Amino acid sequence: MFTSLSDRLTETFRNLRTKGRLSESDVNKTIRDIRLALLDADVALPVVKAFTGNVRERALGAEVSEALNPAQQVVKIVNEELVAILGGETRGIRFAKQGPTVIMLAGLQGSGKTTFAGKLGHWLKDQGHTPMLVAADLQRPNAVTQLEVVGQRAGVPVYAPERGNEAGHDAVTADIEGTRSHGDPVAVSRAGIAEARAKQHDVVIVDTAGRLAVDEGLMQQAADIRAAIEPDEVLFVIDAMIGQAAVETAEAFQEGVDLTGVVLSKLDGDARGGAALSVASFTGKPIMFASTGEGVRDVEVFHPDRMASRILD
Ligand code: GDP
Repeated sequence: MFTSLSDRLTETFRNLRTKGRLSESDVNKTIRDIRLALLDADVALPVVKAFTGNVRERALGAEVSEALNPAQQVVKIVNEELVAILGGETRGIRFAKQGPTVIMLAGLQGSGKTTFAGKLGHWLKDQGHTPMLVAADLQRPNAVTQLEVVGQRAGVPVYAPERGNEAGHDAVTADIEGTRSHGDPVAVSRAGIAEARAKQHDVVIVDTAGRLAVDEGLMQQAADIRAAIEPDEVLFVIDAMIGQAAVETAEAFQEGVDLTGVVLSKLDGDARGGAALSVASFTGKPIMFASTGEGVRDVEVFHPDRMASRILD
């Protein structure tokens, strides 16, 4: 990811290096190049505007360091603005002081939630935690089984609704826009957390249902689960490949379920990076993890400063 953006910016800064002093028109040309590079990388227009506005103001302003030549100064400003747009400081999970830490996952179907649930469980286990996964995606017929497989791979236990009983998997209790929901996800989430508490798991990861597009019924279901389980973290999993569509999806989830953080998935693909740069800015929530493959170990803590350096490499 970011290869093309990175190449474009490197080229822009190479052109600056030959300059002894930067005139206003040099700065304007550089800003124009940066703007085009960001737009080509699928970064949302308002984010591009805010970003280039900040860079221009700072590059033309009084920020002069004698230790750096003009080109280095612009690179430094762009680097700092990239870090800011990617969420600033690295933000770790906020663990509950008492009882199990509850982490709810939300996002569109296919975004990589279930896969990430396994990765996060595995990662937490590596850190010495005793996580449990809860299968509260009762919308998609195979979702529960898929989480069980993912849990097995990660070596993390999964709480799934019992099949065939009243509150369970096969009881059809809701019908959201024609899709049958098997069981009550709020009840399952609650029961899962109770089980985790009883078995002394210190982190519970609740996988919720997704849809191919944002819809009200689904958002209400996610909001109901959130209200019932009062999670310590609500992580929005977003496929980095979806480009411009990332923004409206992120905004809808932010409004619907009040996110606390973002997980970017499929960073191993050839996404141009726009989603990464837009989503943190639009939600105002930090990107906390990056998912980089289909395997259970393919996950990294997201460091805004390292990602910015990678872009400006
Ligand atoms: P969910 O519907 O949000 O639970 O999405 P899934 O976890 O089922 O993922 C959808 C598809 O994307 C599956 O085929 C996953 O194997 C794949 N996937 C998930 N995360 C990643 C990732 O980080 N990289 C790649 N390449 N594929 C991923």
